[in-house]
Amino acid sequence: MDILARNRALEEKDHLYLWHPFTQQKDWTARRPVIIEEARGCYLRDIYGRWYLDGVSSLWVNILGHRRREIDDAIRAQLDRVAHSTLLGLANIPSIELGERLVSLSPEGLTRVFYSDNGSTSVEVALKMAYQYWVNRGDRGRTTFLCLNNAYHGDTLGAVSVGGIEIFHETFRPLLFRTYRAPSPYCYRCELGLTPEDCELACLHALDEILKEHAEEVAAVVVEPMVQAAAGMIVFPKGYMRGLYELVKRYGLLLIADEVAVGFGRTGRLFACEHEDVRPDFLCLSKALTGGYLPLAATLTTDEVYSAFLGEIEELKTFFHGHSYTGNPLACAAALATLRTIEREGVLQNVRENSAVLMQWLQEIQALPHVGDARGIGLMAGVELVRDKETKEPYPYGEQMGYQVCYRARQEGLLLRPLGNVVVIMPPLVITREELIRMLDIIHDSIVDVTEKGWRYGYD
Ligand code: PMP
Repeated sequence: MDILARNRALEEKDHLYLWHPFTQQKDWTARRPVIIEEARGCYLRDIYGRWYLDGVSSLWVNILGHRRREIDDAIRAQLDRVAHSTLLGLANIPSIELGERLVSLSPEGLTRVFYSDNGSTSVEVALKMAYQYWVNRGDRGRTTFLCLNNAYHGDTLGAVSVGGIEIFHETFRPLLFRTYRAPSPYCYRCELGLTPEDCELACLHALDEILKEHAEEVAAVVVEPMVQAAAGMIVFPKGYMRGLYELVKRYGLLLIADEVAVGFGRTGRLFACEHEDVRPDFLCLSKALTGGYLPLAATLTTDEVYSAFLGEIEELKTFFHGHSYTGNPLACAAALATLRTIEREGVLQNVRENSAVLMQWLQEIQALPHVGDARGIGLMAGVELVRDKETKEPYPYGEQMGYQVCYRARQEGLLLRPLGNVVVIMPPLVITREELIRMLDIIHDSIVDVTEKGWRYGYD
């Protein structure tokens, strides 16, 4: 079969057999898919030989570039020993070594590592542990959680229960457990109608009011530290995260920090909690943990939580939770190599230096007539497009303006994925200055083409 025939067959079979995540299939099957065949560094190559800059780090996971020698070698070496054995009733070497490493790197007080295999499950584990922590201590009344509007913690039903993104979560509301919700610290569209200059973090005050009344029903407060990522890269105002932490502690509650998106250097610190010296009771990690190679997640917790689960067998204080691939040796080996590489290559330094370029660009792009807000931290950013800058009127969802910009950028060799009207910037953390500038130039021009010159992507 010639290459063109093979490619056409692959495109047809994708349309025929697959169901893509977060995708309206009617729309998807009306367009030719980009099918990736190979990758190198920050670039992906499709089946026609076109190379693209991976501007979303393959959905926020690939921080060190593709086909990293260190990670490839670590996985191959582990393959020659054992690919998988279970942590239920057995232990394995890479999961032990990784556990030690994670404890040494994470914020103070986190001393235990529980593995699972994706971001959602890392949150499910934290929710269930937090609830059972209180039950094991004899307090059965803490049957709810406090979370934020605009939160996103994954797609399993527990994680959806503590989520707050209307279009993703509302359908499932009848299936979810009850939560309390505090305002999102989304300064551009402040729920309280205030401005960052004079609000004095009134959204924290609102959170305090909820806790004043309901703290005794709450098992834990759940938050994405520093950035509500999936809601459109909502960066917290200075002091918000620290203030939230202090409130949680004042009420004697547990704090679940979901660093699935922001962990491992994305914000310029290894963990986002470090920016405001926050020491959570649970730290949820996944995505970049393996450098974007293999699915793995970890939920870290404290001695205090861990010891509440100790007891005689018949006391049933055990945490009855676990997944088939928990502590997978291949994934743990990839994670160990990832952590070594972050350190050896000074990746955090690269993030900070390139972040200065990104932050400057974000300032400048605000001048465009359809950019309402542009915000970021480290090497994660969002550019929020609006129909009317004066009134902040959003483009209607059906217009898919974020996608239009991404389709335009794709023609120039840059792969992006938007969040609604927000163009997301999430390059690999090892991106060079030149690559970053090229990426930002393409995004700038694509926004202009779509919002000012009426460019639209048609169907094939
Ligand atoms: N928490 C946060 C903060 C996330 O951004 C995501 C995924 N984008 C998740 C949890 C869920 O992770 P996963 O897709 O691996 O289940």
